[in-house]
Amino acid sequence: MKLVLATHNPNKIREMTEILAKSASEIGEFEILTLVALGVPDDVEETGSTFEENALIKARVGASLGYLSVADDSGLEVDALGGEPGVYSARYSGEHGDDEANNRLVLERLSGVPSEKRSARFVAAIACVFPDGRSFTVRGTVEGRILEAPEGNNGFGYDPIFYSNEAASSFGTYPPEEKNKISHRARALRLFCDRLCDYLGEKNVNE
Ligand code: IMP
Repeated sequence: MKLVLATHNPNKIREMTEILAKSASEIGEFEILTLVALGVPDDVEETGSTFEENALIKARVGASLGYLSVADDSGLEVDALGGEPGVYSARYSGEHGDDEANNRLVLERLSGVPSEKRSARFVAAIACVFPDGRSFTVRGTVEGRILEAPEGNNGFGYDPIFYSNEAASSFGTYPPEEKNKISHRARALRLFCDRLCDYLGEKNVNE
């Protein structure tokens, strides 16, 4: 069966391929394709107001080519900021992917907010769209709070300012292989594999 990973991000492609390979005994073997390999340009606009909507927008690109297609969208939600940065996580400070500026802005906006009111979570939504138009989404989260200042250089994005309750540490100081076991993305990917297994049990969706 052919499955398109509807992303141009090499880290996501690697992580998703690994998880799918581990689940192969339950969901079967996939021939993994990527949009890059299919020559599709990286020009999808993420216009959704939720992670799920954006993941669906991306996954539909692969499904429109006739494949079972999977995409994800992720970010940070800070309760004291009304859920911001949310779907704007990658470009919160204005420039796409400027992690340091994004972290600075979150810390600035939380200035004076006490520890117990700095609750936050990472969210990952994964969308799966079948060639026949059916689709489903799943969501994984990891709960924590925003620190007063960055701690550690591990990971990427908001990891240095995020204290994970489960890890009892900043993700910036937590070993990446341990983070990958409890992360929002890992959780969403596991849920995705379970749901896909259910769908594939129903009927053959990808001729
Ligand atoms: P996207 O899912 O590629 O649209 O971007 C998500 C953005 O959310 C990233 O650029 C990061 O700023 C942030 N983000 C998502 N997951 C993580 C994570 O595991 N650690 C730190 N930041 C994350």
